[in-house]
Amino acid sequence: MNGRPNGLIIAIDGPSGAGKSTIARLLANRLGYLQIDTGAMYRAVAFLVSQAGIDPSDVDAVEQLCDSANIRLDCSNGSQRVFANGQDVTELIRTPEMSLMTSRISALKPVRESMMMLQRRMGRDGGVVLEGRDIGTAVFPDAELKFFLFASPEERGKRRFAELVGNGEQVTLEETIEAVSRRDHQDSQRDLAPLRQAEDAIPVDSSRSSIDEVLNKMEDIVRKKIHQAGTTI
Ligand code: C5P
Repeated sequence: MNGRPNGLIIAIDGPSGAGKSTIARLLANRLGYLQIDTGAMYRAVAFLVSQAGIDPSDVDAVEQLCDSANIRLDCSNGSQRVFANGQDVTELIRTPEMSLMTSRISALKPVRESMMMLQRRMGRDGGVVLEGRDIGTAVFPDAELKFFLFASPEERGKRRFAELVGNGEQVTLEETIEAVSRRDHQDSQRDLAPLRQAEDAIPVDSSRSSIDEVLNKMEDIVRKKIHQAGTTI
């Protein structure tokens, strides 16, 4: 037994467009676990910062906002909805502008501290799949299983482009690839909890595999771990 009442903590980290959200959702469904999209939580903070007209370089103002912000993920109706101070922001946080704003504010200490505290509280009893950039390195370094999901920059750009076009955004493939690279650079070069693979994470390359192939491979590893740990799910 791992000592967590609800099962394992599974961390999935990696750059944007590697397929983390889809894989985390499907894996959590198969296991009967809860999916925690930590990127959506940072996006919700970015939404509040821009809604309040706060300059993201004004760290004190951002800290004040974080102290009173109420960020919530609701999975009760089968799909995950994101709430910021009671407002459903699920779709509003997915624009290219919000992605870049999120990458900026997520480098700030008060933002990371408040989100990390919340994520630890949400996940500590186990039975969760958390996806993000720093789950295996900073939020739950003691997670029972860690994956690092990645794909080539071109492939990630293409996936992100298809997603944005599907959401009705007017973007080109070139600018999408550029924005994804910029965000990766910001996320991996920042001082606090930068995007990097934890030493004990299992690398998974999703460039040339279907979602099902990646999912089956990861599920296999998880089931073996559950069997080993003698944990029921
Ligand atoms: O995963 P997603 O692309 O929605 O994340 C949006 C942004 O949130 C990332 O580019 C990153 O700056 C930030 N983030 C983070 N730490 C996490 C998850 C997301 O800094 N654990």
